[in-house]
Amino acid sequence: MGRARADTTQRSGTTPRIVIIGAGIAGILMGIKLRQRGWTDFTILEKADRLGGTWRENQYPGAACDVPAHLYVYSFAPNPAWRTRYAKAPEIWQYYHDQAERNGVLPHIEYGKEVATSEFDGTRWNVTTREGEHYEADVVIAGVGRLHQPNLPDITGAERFTGPKFHSSCWDHSVELKGKRLGVIGGGSSGVQIVSALADEVGKLSLFQRTPQWVFPLPDAPIPLKKRLLYRLWPGALARQYRKLEAEIDDRAGRAALDASVRAETAKLCNAGLAGVRDPELRAKLTPHYEVGCKRLVISGSFYDAIQKPSVDLVTEGIDHIEERGVVTTDGKLHEVDALVFATGFKAHAFLRPMQLKGEGGVTLDEVWNDLPINYRTVAIPHMPNFFMLNGPYSPGGSASVVGIIEVQTGYLLQLLDRIAEDQVLLTPREDATSDWLSGVRDLARQTVWATGGCNSWYLDKTGTPAYNPISITELKSSMATPIRDDFIATARETEPA
Ligand code: NAP
Repeated sequence: MGRARADTTQRSGTTPRIVIIGAGIAGILMGIKLRQRGWTDFTILEKADRLGGTWRENQYPGAACDVPAHLYVYSFAPNPAWRTRYAKAPEIWQYYHDQAERNGVLPHIEYGKEVATSEFDGTRWNVTTREGEHYEADVVIAGVGRLHQPNLPDITGAERFTGPKFHSSCWDHSVELKGKRLGVIGGGSSGVQIVSALADEVGKLSLFQRTPQWVFPLPDAPIPLKKRLLYRLWPGALARQYRKLEAEIDDRAGRAALDASVRAETAKLCNAGLAGVRDPELRAKLTPHYEVGCKRLVISGSFYDAIQKPSVDLVTEGIDHIEERGVVTTDGKLHEVDALVFATGFKAHAFLRPMQLKGEGGVTLDEVWNDLPINYRTVAIPHMPNFFMLNGPYSPGGSASVVGIIEVQTGYLLQLLDRIAEDQVLLTPREDATSDWLSGVRDLARQTVWATGGCNSWYLDKTGTPAYNPISITELKSSMATPIRDDFIATARETEPA
């Protein structure tokens, strides 16, 4: 049986042995924080052969983060080198790789280790990978991401298409698209970035749009060399920029789901961008018929220019089926394409799955989550002692920086880990505390534009309630500043001699 290992010589004898699942932004952050406090008895199991999570997988042309780059960082590691307001996927990947390297996390990562099962044996967790390797851990922390498993719609005949086809998060860079006819199914954030990036490169691009999106027309802009130098020489200015962006976005996006006046302002700006589409027929096709903010806002300063190019065709008739040569819409028209991209999003409710979890008394995650992804404050699950999550269900939604959210959750988990180490206990959230917290969040979520705005989106669970919490980072920070001791059941943990 393997151990959650690495630098075990430094093990204090009281710190728990930890397995972290996933080497994305969350897993790396937890690794950094553990090392900063001298806890080195942990292993990060990563299914792929590289770290980086979202930014490893999403390498499609134009992939970039629509949260300002200076905010999309660990707060303790500002980056003076960003060249543009919004960072591109490869630069973001490099930043998080550098953080893992600089902070000594790389040796803790084991690649090609996809966790298949985690079973609690009454004392500790037995984690097994698909390849059949075993790890023992006192604590398991899942940082597996929420938008991770590609949603590949079941469109009749897709298998008959003879050209290359792939999901936006599995881009096949060996396919030459220059001058070719490309079909893009899906006009969310990914589809919009792909269309903007490739409109000039391909011979013809057909965007198959099922629902028009609200597009916030924020242009990207270079960060002048002088400013980058200033940030390098004067870290205080960079820290101030982080705080400024955090406050601005919290102000604008933090309560937008609940605050109609914030949304009215957003709609005004989106409509001003849309007004730049000259052809009234095209503009009508791009005009959403639901409230702004109901779906996650698409942020792009270049999409409306791209969609008006002669090489781009916006197809709004529904897709009937796919055949050898392309996509056939419900009006019977065949749209011939040489390659097909599914920018069709992710299975947002498959959180933790397909991993199988078995907690106390053999109860499975599927049993606990039969109806809903029940959890306590996004990080802990009843009946799953010492099993925690980062960016779990009911984390804040909207356009906030997920890095900031994960930092708050990590700070909270570190306090739970301290208690686990000091008191040598297993911590499980109480069911009553869990349901009190969860019903408060769900009541609030039902009042949001996500639920009432007249659209369908991946925010909603099967009951039509958003699985996101409409609170700002400021509110998240205060609600997760200190764990409520009595909300957890603490049972003595069997320990090994040091
Ligand atoms: P998405 O927002 O879920 O968009 C998927 C698109 O595919 C939608 O337009 C959807 O149409 C369409 N679609 C799904 N199934 C379809 C079908 N069977 N036929 C036709 N169209 C179909 O996915 P995404 O664009 O990959 O973005 C996912 C999330 O990732 C974003 O919301 C964002 O949180 C994140 N993201 C962030 C950035 C960033 O810059 N930070 C960039 C990319 C992605 P409907 O609207 O009709 O369902």
